[in-house]
Amino acid sequence: MNIAINTSGSAYHVDSKGYFGKFGGAYIPEMLYPNVEELQENYLRIMSEPSFQQEFEALLKDYVGRPSPLYYAKRLSGKYNTNIYLKREDLNHTGAHKVNNTIGQILLAKRLGKKRIIAETGAGQHGVATATVCALMGLECVVYMGKIDIQRQAPNVARMKMLGATVVPATSGSQTLKDATNEAIRDWINNPVDTHYIIGSVVGPHPYPDMVARFQSVISEEIRLQLQEKTGNPLPDYAIACVGGGSNAAGTFFHFMDEPSVKLVAVEAAGKGVDSGFSAATTVLGSLGVIHGSKTLLMQTDDGQIVEPHSISAGLDYPGVGPVHAHLFDSKRGIVMSATDDEALAAAYELTRLEGIIPALESSHALAKLKDINFKPSDVVVVCLSGRGDKDLETYIQHLK
Ligand SMILES: *Cc1c(COP(=O)(O)O)cnc(C)c1O
Repeated sequence: MNIAINTSGSAYHVDSKGYFGKFGGAYIPEMLYPNVEELQENYLRIMSEPSFQQEFEALLKDYVGRPSPLYYAKRLSGKYNTNIYLKREDLNHTGAHKVNNTIGQILLAKRLGKKRIIAETGAGQHGVATATVCALMGLECVVYMGKIDIQRQAPNVARMKMLGATVVPATSGSQTLKDATNEAIRDWINNPVDTHYIIGSVVGPHPYPDMVARFQSVISEEIRLQLQEKTGNPLPDYAIACVGGGSNAAGTFFHFMDEPSVKLVAVEAAGKGVDSGFSAATTVLGSLGVIHGSKTLLMQTDDGQIVEPHSISAGLDYPGVGPVHAHLFDSKRGIVMSATDDEALAAAYELTRLEGIIPALESSHALAKLKDINFKPSDVVVVCLSGRGDKDLETYIQHLK
């Protein structure tokens, strides 16, 4: 793990004030200063300790099952007349990329002497990944989850409870992810000394967007080595990932940001269509504002009220986007596309029938754009398969073709 803050002078990684271009920072109530400053002052030092790195790497290897395979998808490649590799985060313990980050943060929390962990969750994947590492380390775990999401995601609620976590319903607002995040922040304000808040994506006040990206950067670190081995070149022509808050995409892009030949494609959820009023295409629909402690692009009305997002996939149903992605878009380094609910469903069936892999609905959004990019037969394309589809079977079966 390379932990020095932006030693390369990169225009795309975080700067010393916690910004990505004009996005990021820490816009927090004064009550949160002690917690956030403690993290700002310590995260790079702790992450660079050899004992931390050893413990992190050992758990990624033997507990999560890393490195995750980079799979050459032959039949899918044939269909699009190019070379498509899937980064198999779906094969990780707990079924998605989220666990890379929760392992990193729980090790950090332990070194800061924290006894209690809180988290927010939408679909429940981050809640499960957090409850899992709390069981592993014997720490108390409280997960905030919108009341509606609790009803929609019953299997993940059951998993969290079996793992020993307390699941607290967020009953304000639309009773979904944004409201669960508000409740978690409120808890943190009330418990500043013994509690660490494990945020599940590259969102929130600095240092979270950078810290989470670094924990997820193992994805592109492995892709480089695996591509070198398979193709003789560590660089793909395209790196493609779906974006909710943007953590799997940040991990997939991390070690390619300063390689201009690599096209970075972020795929947002268009819901029923970007202009339908039922969308989560934050970058296209959003404008500059502050959400959950970070200055970034978010969906809001003219007077600054947050617009409720919509996506078939709960993991992409967030009205903001991580500041790193706002900056990649703003600087034109990144390419932002969006996929509708229907496109994602079709892509999920396509991957399942061509490769025998059932992807998470979130990941299906990334797969859905393969048809819209003009690849050359010689191109090397890496798609991050951020998670497996078990949690989405009910939705898939309803749309069975
Ligand atoms: C949570 C989740 C996402 C969206 O989160 P990011 O931070 O944007 O990666 C994507 N895919 C899966 C499988 C998820 O569980």
